[in-house]
Amino acid sequence: MTERIDRLLRQRGGPLTAELARRPGGFGLGQLPARLAPDAVQRMICGFCSTGCSLDVHLRAGVAVNLSPSPDHPVNRGAACPKGWEALAPLGAPDRATTPLIRRAGRFEPADWPTAIATLVARGKAIQARHGAESLAFLGTGQLASEELALFGALAKFGMGMVHGDGNTRQCMATAVVAYRQAFGFDAPPYTYADLEASDVLIFVGANPCVAHPVLWGRACQNPHRPAIVVIDPRRTETAMAATHHLALRPKSDLVLFHGLANLLIERGWIDRAFIAEHTVGFDELAACVARFPLAEVADATGVPRAEIERLAELIHRGQRVSLWWTMGVNQSHEGVRVAQAIINIALLTGNIGRPGTGANSITGQCNAMGSRLFANTTSLLGGHDFTRADHRVKVASVLGIDPARIPAHSGMAYDQILQGIARGTIRGLWIVGTNSAHSWINQSDARDLLAHLDLLVVQDMYATTETAQLAHIVLPAAGWGEKDGTFINSERRLGLIKRVAHAPGVALADFYIFKLIAEAWGCGELFARWSSPEAVFQLIAELTRGQPCDISGIAGYDEIERCGGIQWPLPSGVDPAPDAERRLFEDGRFFHPDGKARLIAGEPQRVPEPTDARFPFTLLTGRGSASEWHTLTRSAKSAVLDKLGAGAPYVELSPIDAARLGIASGERVVLESRRGQMVARAFVTHAVQPGQVFVAMHHAETNRLTFAAFDPSSRQPAYKACAVAIHRARDGEPGVHDRT
Ligand code: SF4
Repeated sequence: MTERIDRLLRQRGGPLTAELARRPGGFGLGQLPARLAPDAVQRMICGFCSTGCSLDVHLRAGVAVNLSPSPDHPVNRGAACPKGWEALAPLGAPDRATTPLIRRAGRFEPADWPTAIATLVARGKAIQARHGAESLAFLGTGQLASEELALFGALAKFGMGMVHGDGNTRQCMATAVVAYRQAFGFDAPPYTYADLEASDVLIFVGANPCVAHPVLWGRACQNPHRPAIVVIDPRRTETAMAATHHLALRPKSDLVLFHGLANLLIERGWIDRAFIAEHTVGFDELAACVARFPLAEVADATGVPRAEIERLAELIHRGQRVSLWWTMGVNQSHEGVRVAQAIINIALLTGNIGRPGTGANSITGQCNAMGSRLFANTTSLLGGHDFTRADHRVKVASVLGIDPARIPAHSGMAYDQILQGIARGTIRGLWIVGTNSAHSWINQSDARDLLAHLDLLVVQDMYATTETAQLAHIVLPAAGWGEKDGTFINSERRLGLIKRVAHAPGVALADFYIFKLIAEAWGCGELFARWSSPEAVFQLIAELTRGQPCDISGIAGYDEIERCGGIQWPLPSGVDPAPDAERRLFEDGRFFHPDGKARLIAGEPQRVPEPTDARFPFTLLTGRGSASEWHTLTRSAKSAVLDKLGAGAPYVELSPIDAARLGIASGERVVLESRRGQMVARAFVTHAVQPGQVFVAMHHAETNRLTFAAFDPSSRQPAYKACAVAIHRARDGEPGVHDRT
């Protein structure tokens, strides 16, 4: 086996021999692109959020030394948030994983690639031989390039025989995926960013773009139509402070609010009956459902005054171009899919879709969450196909030149179900790539326990210091953004390039080539012979989309993406990609269901999974802390600038009324406690939160000690946003900065 790996390493040419691979401080697989002039500027897409800003990376002697936002790119037009400006900093962190590590007698020992991969393969195959092929599973990330995601998912499922695999996109976007599929017939965010500037009414639901998507917020602020900007959020966020209207509803009362709003629009005749009749199905059922949400009761249930709800209905009625935008406040809910559909209902009822400045628009999270949705081979088969459809399996197998029997006939378990599988003992080995489950999972203590009990945990990451890597049996050192090639897809469905502008440290490799090595060692390398480089894989996945709503078979290759400043899907073959073109979906009124009509869907609101009570009387809200902090801080904390701009130590926002009642002053040390655990934080007394609510940023390692493991039943997305907690001043000598579990 090691000979095969050696051979593959040598095949990459140049100095890439197995001998060098064993030498610390050696190389990154592949050379910097030959066409790269030593002092060139390379244009590439940012590797943090889904906005997809373009950055001009400045090279000296062939290595990135600095960057600036691309001044003429259609997405960001010269702007970037702090993370974009500091995108290179995490690459130089001292705790980068530089060599494979294997745990022996409880301690990590450095290993060479052939040994690490041979160990992974031997232990993985032994687990499968003893417990079945399904006993190995994988978790990926929306941080990988689409080509890497496709290779990872195809290798795991078609090559290694796994059935269960998911990604960290389950934590942020699964709800939007299911809502769009059910309403539109395909996972299809319909908008283009120009819609932010074309609307005369912008409605942000559970979204704080001022902090989470600052460049998009900047574009909304450039809207020349003096738009009404409505924020629907329990918390007075930075966006709410800048909005023209803020509806501070009770946590998780959003479904009631939107049903009430739909009812009001129908009652007053403020709907587009012609559009509904021609382009939708399900109006009568929806009208009957929302009729049970009269204005007075909705005001009571949501805490939003009647006049404000009526004002919102009137704004929508009078608006010529109304757009609705949502993010995690909707998605991370026990009934997120139904809330997202209730938002979609408003757009469909009023004909606000398919025109400039309109749409029911989910803004996604990670830089390539959208690529993950199409190509991760987890919830959908490669290219947005359906695992359960035999014709789709045959089509995909034919494009890839593999036996259709290699493709599972179902999508496998979701993230939480994989963890349950570990608890039951049916999942014995897990391969985690580029995500920090031991920090970010909703029931963190359980997740850590479960990961620690696996027979085999392989973690492939830029850093061996993450909470998850620290639990691993094998760590595979991965190149980061800026150290590899591929494509990302942003929130408006625009494909953009990432490029290799820096050497990965030590013997770290691009994820793409790690997958290739494992395929070879596993004995299925011949299946991926045509998957020879990221651009070769791009051609494959473009072909896979032919005839799909996300058809990109018309994109000739990376050079064309570069020339056009990114290309939005769809772009079927034969269509000319006009540079800087902005395209939205559904302009012809046809949706992706077979009858061409969208679905109006209603669902009954469900009780909050963990309501407050006398022991835990506060509702915990979680969310992004600042524009300089990214998720579990694995990368953003590596930048001194971003670290300085961030909040630093954990803090909890508390209303002045509650602070006075509890005798807590700003800056004081408090203990925040749920049924799962507790954290110590500094109090931040602010009118941003309402009495009875507290807010903690999601980035702190302690936050998910508290959150309650509830899930949307359709999307299996975790409901991070509302659970019951208690808060008190930290007492001198008080034990209890530890988990309860
Ligand atoms: Fe990068 Fe997002 Fe910031 Fe743009 S807004 S620079 S894509 S993190």
